[in-house]
Amino acid sequence: MQKILVVEDEVKVANAVKKGLEENGFEVDVAYDGRMGKSLAASNNYDLVILDLNLPHHNGYELCEVIRRKNNRVPVIMLTALGGVEDKMQAFELGADDYLVKPFDFRELLARIRVFLKRAGSEAPHSTQYKITIADLEIDREKKEVTRGGKKIALTAKEYQLLDFLALHKGKVISKLTIAEKVWDIDFDTGTNVIEVYMNFLRKKIDKDFEQKLLHTKTGMGYYLSEE
Ligand code: CA
Repeated sequence: MQKILVVEDEVKVANAVKKGLEENGFEVDVAYDGRMGKSLAASNNYDLVILDLNLPHHNGYELCEVIRRKNNRVPVIMLTALGGVEDKMQAFELGADDYLVKPFDFRELLARIRVFLKRAGSEAPHSTQYKITIADLEIDREKKEVTRGGKKIALTAKEYQLLDFLALHKGKVISKLTIAEKVWDIDFDTGTNVIEVYMNFLRKKIDKDFEQKLLHTKTGMGYYLSEE
């Protein structure tokens, strides 16, 4: 059974989400404040974390950082009453994979959870390639590990999915729209800005310290991964 951590101080919202998820076959732990969320996240392995932004003791941003330090790749969905672009960007920068503005429809939350969990569990059958190598960049698709020049690179779930998608289409220019559809797999209300933000994150981690750049932009067309 897949296990989800819900960190939310509004008891009503927390319990409704817990109930809905349990009805859909998930095992759910609820933390009603940041401290409890932190200790649960530290002592359990969750398949996914739902994080409210405004919480007593530690806010969602702090918690997200803590979770990322412990387990790089667990998908994190942030919940918040704030819907500004800056709030979204901050959430993404701290490693959240998705962002839902309150009040939200439970079905939408469920749909997003399923996208993340389905992808985490069924990535390999899409391709028989288990290792992709581009110059000195190596993607181990079984272990979901990325190294460059032999050095391990820590990526969030979304960063990994984006890199993996570009790597599977090595050398081909992929439009932002295709990336939004295929990598995010949802109606993308945040707009394609977020893809630029993610490309910047990836560049920092994959290319910044290396002379040979692998991530390329074709202006007005999209992005591609190539050793050229
Ligand atoms: Ca709250």
